[in-house]
Amino acid sequence: MIAGGGIGGLAAALALSKIGRASLVLEQASEFKEVGAGIQISPNVFMMFDVLGIAEAIKQIAVFPDSLTIRDALTAEQVMHIPLGPEFLARFRYPYGVIYRPDLLDALLRACKQSPLIALHTGKSVAGYEDRNTHVTIRTDDDEIFEGAALVGADGLWSRIRERIVGDGKPRVAGHIAYRAVLPIEKAPTHARERRVTLWAGPKIHLVHYPLRRGELLNLVAVFHSDRYEEGWDKYGDPEELNEKFKHARSEVRELLALIEAWRMWVLCDRDPVKHWSAGRVTLLGDAAHPTLQYMAQGGCMAIEDAVVLARKIEIVQDDFARAFVAYQEDRYLRTARVQLTSRFVGDYVYHPRGPAAEVRNQMLQNLTREDMAWLYDGIKA
Ligand SMILES: Cc1cc2nc3c(=O)[nH]c(=O)nc-3n(C[C@H](O)[C@H](O)[C@H](O)COP(=O)(O)OP(=O)(O)OC[C@H]3O[C@@H](n4cnc5c(N)ncnc54)[C@H](O)[C@@H]3O)c2cc1C
Repeated sequence: MIAGGGIGGLAAALALSKIGRASLVLEQASEFKEVGAGIQISPNVFMMFDVLGIAEAIKQIAVFPDSLTIRDALTAEQVMHIPLGPEFLARFRYPYGVIYRPDLLDALLRACKQSPLIALHTGKSVAGYEDRNTHVTIRTDDDEIFEGAALVGADGLWSRIRERIVGDGKPRVAGHIAYRAVLPIEKAPTHARERRVTLWAGPKIHLVHYPLRRGELLNLVAVFHSDRYEEGWDKYGDPEELNEKFKHARSEVRELLALIEAWRMWVLCDRDPVKHWSAGRVTLLGDAAHPTLQYMAQGGCMAIEDAVVLARKIEIVQDDFARAFVAYQEDRYLRTARVQLTSRFVGDYVYHPRGPAAEVRNQMLQNLTREDMAWLYDGIKA
């Protein structure tokens, strides 16, 4: 059984189907749905798409940017430029892409629906579970009981299953807020229509933009520091607050912000890494296991890698789920912890520094090469 039908839960169901294992996905929402925003997908996850059999579907709908560029949001100085063209592809064997989240979820969902081994249920919120040694039972909020050989908690940042296994309370509020919006590319100024991921980095603020869906849409993510905290995410943002935070930014940045009337807002959270996230026949996956800030653009990629590794460990030891889950977390925790901690560092010292810290950042980034990303983009053994 898999609790949660987001990117991680559906990828897990698909990965299990590839080793001939049946699964049941229970999603609390009334439909399988991702918010309308973009997500960056690096070579390490394209390797996983091959394993899951969805690489072609993703390539049809994603955008493959020519470069990743960071500019100073106050001066427009270019502080980093990583070409993503043929040399990048030759080095990492898989491309760097960007995709509209609903398109990614749709590719996963369509593949799941094609498998006779995957049962998908919506409107089922998992409230709790009992590990009965030979099997696991779960209870939903509406008191329905499901039974299965094991349970994977892919129920995201506020995972109820994590509460039982790890019990480390609420997520850590980063003090950063993200405003996100997607608009038809025709509405964007020419400089923002290029096939490029552009990040404007300023003191305690940044804006990222890139095209989506074969270049038909433009994705905008504006982030700033704020003490505000509201539980949950995906609420309407306040454009005035955004304008105030970005008032010193370059006109190119403010011009893009002015294009949007209805922003969606996220209060960004993560957790400290943990080494153990499995207990008996129950384990965690994706944000439930190792939620990370978005600064390395890897949370979704890590969830998909988790799914493939989890299935591989089950394939090795077959029905000894407790052993498979320990082997899985041992395989995953250092890599995912490195992403969690690097993301915090990148947020503070690459995206949002001011003064001398920003100068140090500029100097460091001028010397950054593709090889500095090899630990991540080389991926895992597929
Ligand atoms: C601003 C921002 C930008 C990002 N950019 C990137 C990026 O560029 N690249 C990248 O790889 N990652 C990115 N991420 C991270 C990525 O979005 C997450 O890591 C990813 O969505 C995690 O997937 P998941 O399936 O583990 O969790 P979720 O996407 O949170 O899915 C959990 C699912 O479980 C369901 N659920 C919750 N509770 C229950 C319950 N009790 N019972 C049943 N169902 C339940 C939810 O409804 C949901 O469908 C970004 C995140 C943010 C906030």
